[in-house]
Amino acid sequence: MKKPLIKVLLPITALLLSSCSFTDWFKNIFSKNEQGQKEEEQKTDPKKQTYPGNPIEIDIPDSLPLTVGQTKALSISYNPQDTENKVVEWVSSNPSVATYSDGQVTALSVGQSKITATAKNRLGETIKSECNVVVTDPSTISKTTLKYTYDDYCANSAYPFDNTPLVGNPKLLVIPVWFSDSDTFISMSHRELVRDDIRKSFFGTNEEAGWRSLKTYYEEEAQGMIDIGGTITEWYETGESYEVYASDSSGGHKTETLVETASTYYFNNSSETAQDYDSNNDGYLDGVILVYAAPDYDSLGVSSNNLWAYTSWLMGLPDLSNPTPNVYFWGSYDFMYSSGIKAYERTELSMYGRGDTRHCVVDPHCFIHEMGHVFGLQDYYDYSGQHCPAGGFCMQDMNVGGHDAYSVMAFGWAKPYIPTETSTIIINDFQSSHDMILLANHEVDSPFDEYMLLEFYSPTGLNKFDSDYHYNDRYPLGPKQVGIRLWHVDARLTYWTGAGWSKTLVSNPTRGDVYHAMSNTYYSDWASGYSPLGKNYADFNTLQLIRCEGKSPYFSNNAIFGYGSSFTMNDYADQFVKAQRMNDGKSLGWTFSVSALDETSAAITVTKL
Ligand SMILES: [Zn+2]
Repeated sequence: MKKPLIKVLLPITALLLSSCSFTDWFKNIFSKNEQGQKEEEQKTDPKKQTYPGNPIEIDIPDSLPLTVGQTKALSISYNPQDTENKVVEWVSSNPSVATYSDGQVTALSVGQSKITATAKNRLGETIKSECNVVVTDPSTISKTTLKYTYDDYCANSAYPFDNTPLVGNPKLLVIPVWFSDSDTFISMSHRELVRDDIRKSFFGTNEEAGWRSLKTYYEEEAQGMIDIGGTITEWYETGESYEVYASDSSGGHKTETLVETASTYYFNNSSETAQDYDSNNDGYLDGVILVYAAPDYDSLGVSSNNLWAYTSWLMGLPDLSNPTPNVYFWGSYDFMYSSGIKAYERTELSMYGRGDTRHCVVDPHCFIHEMGHVFGLQDYYDYSGQHCPAGGFCMQDMNVGGHDAYSVMAFGWAKPYIPTETSTIIINDFQSSHDMILLANHEVDSPFDEYMLLEFYSPTGLNKFDSDYHYNDRYPLGPKQVGIRLWHVDARLTYWTGAGWSKTLVSNPTRGDVYHAMSNTYYSDWASGYSPLGKNYADFNTLQLIRCEGKSPYFSNNAIFGYGSSFTMNDYADQFVKAQRMNDGKSLGWTFSVSALDETSAAITVTKL
């Protein structure tokens, strides 16, 4: 039995999933029971008020996570806001753990303390508000460096994959491709403007791109571990109609030949050599990108053809002295623009635009997503369009926001806390700290394994733009609430035995001939991207969002684990294929609860069973 020849084609699809319901949220905010209304009337009735300058209510945050030695402000709000007498008494139930003074809480030792604010209302009654302060010692746990990254996965794949190196100074060769009839879509007088927009999208400053360029996005996400370089070449003239390439199969022969001829042409006519573009000396160019001067099929209004955005591999032999192209992505210029005025301004044609530039100069979302594949990632949306396993809101799912914690960890750009015993751990917002907690039922030293992963989600950093603005009015808008985003990761690997794919799964990619055993797609044939292990594996996902509440397909406020919420396998059995067990058939062996939460951090109590 021969290893089946596959091409992993990674499309951008426009999945139309019902957006999440905010009805409950509105109900909670705006409904008031009658009893409450009566009480409020009494307190605001001037005749009954003994202390008219006092507050009706006071409120302090429910909880506050702190580390030993840290001081944080504790806010108090008064109802009404212009309360005159702000006489409040503050008491800490455990002053050896935390004290309150002048609007600040100081953490002294590990433990919990209740800070209570007490005042008198207008009727002279005692009113109070409480904050649960949780203090941890960060020195009791340190982050674990995992052994492998997607560099190891790609280098040891069952297929001759290649990826852009995840550390150092990789160099991308970006080739704008001009067809004999491209002036139907971009006027000749504007083609250099479009080429410069490609430069802005890939290598521009944040100011030039109006949000992020591909380069600045990944540098921020890698927290300095990578510095992406590269060149936008002159337009490569194919001398052939765009229709020649439209009718090619995706990842087909004509497109692959173009990748080779266009990159060879560049090196034959440049002072640079192919070796300059092989930063890890593996005999392959770090990454080749063809941005073609024809609209994608959706903008053209035709049914699916080769004019879309995807990543594929030539899978030829490496050559150390003259590195050859292998991984490449192919995408239309029109992903950079909104249709209408913006597209007209850049190309003198208004109808072709698949991106969204209402809030930026050029739109790099699609290119950033494809670059995720070029770095080695799978797609996290379901190609069958029936399910939304990862919740939509992350870059490798529906093109929006930052990448999920798993992907960033598997890139080698973030390290997890891996507790071994019951403890309370503080994690800060993922966007600024890359903190995360990994819980597993066995010792984990590889991202390519099965475990639960907790990250602190916030609508900041790389999540900010797509939680402020609703991308193309149809992709998921990032939640505004902060809290824990919980993932069930099953990135275990199968390997080619010579006679078939192994059903014994491994976590070490360097054993060779490996491939992801799971995918987020529910199609039941291998060529469409499901598990190589067969349709019995179609329900298992590489990256599954566990929703705290609700069944919304998209990641939403009520999917977030907030203060006081907790997780047990029993309570969330319906979100696991094997009910109360992990995919490996064993129980997780952990529960957790969110013991304290503020805008930037959370104290998570993990309990070993
Ligand atoms: Zn994709």
